[in-house]
Amino acid sequence: MRKLITVVLMTVTLFLIPFIKSEAKQNYAEDVILKVGDYYDVSEDYNDDMKVVLILGTSLVCKEGYVYAIIPGTTIVVYVDEDGEYIFKRFKVEKSNIETIMLDIGQGDAFLVKVNGWNILIDTGEKKYYEFLKQQLVELEIDYIDTLIVSHMDTDHMGSATLVMQDYGINEVIIPYTAGNSVEYNKFMNYLDRELVNIIYAEKDDHYSLGYGCGLDILSADAGEDTNASSIVMRMSYYENTFLFTGDAPASVLNQIMNDRDIKADVLKVPHHGSDTSSPLMFLKNCGAEISLISVGRDNAYGHPDDNVIRRLETLGSKIYRTDIDGTVIVSGDGKELCVDSYHIIDWDAENRLKVDEGPIIGNLNSHVYHNDSCMSLPAEKNRIYFMYAKDAETSGYRPCNMCIEHSVDENSEKDYGFFDPLLRFIMPTA
Ligand SMILES: [Zn+2]
Ligand SMILES: [Zn+2]
Repeated sequence: MRKLITVVLMTVTLFLIPFIKSEAKQNYAEDVILKVGDYYDVSEDYNDDMKVVLILGTSLVCKEGYVYAIIPGTTIVVYVDEDGEYIFKRFKVEKSNIETIMLDIGQGDAFLVKVNGWNILIDTGEKKYYEFLKQQLVELEIDYIDTLIVSHMDTDHMGSATLVMQDYGINEVIIPYTAGNSVEYNKFMNYLDRELVNIIYAEKDDHYSLGYGCGLDILSADAGEDTNASSIVMRMSYYENTFLFTGDAPASVLNQIMNDRDIKADVLKVPHHGSDTSSPLMFLKNCGAEISLISVGRDNAYGHPDDNVIRRLETLGSKIYRTDIDGTVIVSGDGKELCVDSYHIIDWDAENRLKVDEGPIIGNLNSHVYHNDSCMSLPAEKNRIYFMYAKDAETSGYRPCNMCIEHSVDENSEKDYGFFDPLLRFIMPTA
C-alpha cells in the first residue's frame, strides 16, 4: 500500500514540474472560498476554452466546467488556457451551516432544513395556506427543494404536497406507509405515480447521509392505521447540533422510542402542535432540548399548544418559539453553537387570512350543494358560502357534491383506502 502511495506521489510531483516551471507565481489566481454544497463555474473566470488539468486535494469534485465543494479542506485546481498558460487556483472549502426554518403556515407543520447545499422540506401545511408557504420561500430565497419528507398523511402536514411538488419540480419524497383519507392525499399519491417520483418509504432504523457531517436517523415510522401514530420521527445531526422531528406522534409512540433510542436533541419540533396527548414529561426531559419549536395557528380551534405542555417545557428551561407568536423562526447552527432569529413575514391580520379561515367546505348558494375546497367544479366566488365542517353545511340544508365529497372520507366514514404496496409501485407504476 505504502509503495503505491509513493508511486502516486512521484507521478504527481513529476507531472507538476512543468506547471511550477511556468510563470506559476503571477498566474496564481485569487483564492476562492466556498461552503460545502456550493458550486463554482470555472469558465466564469476565463473563457470557455479553459481546461481543468489537475486537481490537488479532495475537497472538490469537478464536472462539466463546475467545481462542487464536497468536504471542508483546501484544493488547488490547475487550469490551462487557450495559449497553453497554466493557472493555479486555490479553493478553500469551509463547513456549511445548518438552518432549520419553522415556516409560519397557520395550523399545521412545514419546516425547511438547509444543509450542505440540500434543501429539504418537512411537511407542507394545509392547501389553503399554500400561498403563505410560497411567500416565505420566496422571501428566504429558497428557489429549489431537493427532497420532500411528509411526516404523516394528515392535511395539516401534506395538504400542499402536490402543489409544492409541481412548483418546485421535486423528484424525491420520503413518506410513511400509512395512507391518508383526504382528497389531497389521493391527489398526491396519483401525482407521485404519474410523475415517476422516487418514493422512499421510511422504515425505523433507516439512516440517510445528507453530505459531510450531516445524518438523518429514522427513529419511528409505524405502519398501523392511525395517521398520527405513523408519523416519521427522526433525528438529524450536524456535527454537534441535533434536531428531533416528531410529526404528530402521540405519547405511546414517543414512550416506545424513548425506551430504545437516543432522543437527546438541542432542538425539538414539539410533537402534535403542543397537544397534551403528546409530549409526556419524561420524553421532554430525556430529549433535553434547549430550543422548542411549536407550529400552531393563531386562536386555533384545538386549543394548541396545551398549557400543560408549555409549563413542562418552561420547567425544563427550554426556550419556546411559536409560529402564532414569533412568525417564521430560523434556527442556525455551525455544528457547535446555535442561534435563533424570527420574522413576521406573513401578515395574518390581512383580509386574505379571513377568507382562507372561513372554512374548507364551500357551498353553492344557488344549488345548495357543498364541495371540498379542492373540487373541480366549485361555484363562482359570488355564489359561495363557507363552512368549517361538512356537518355544518348539512345542518344548513346543503347536500354533498357527488364529485368531491362523496369520494372523499370524513372522520366517521368506514371507507378504507388501504395501504400502498411499495413493490407494486416500483415494478409497474400505474398510468
Ligand atoms: Zn398536525
Ligand atoms: Zn396529524
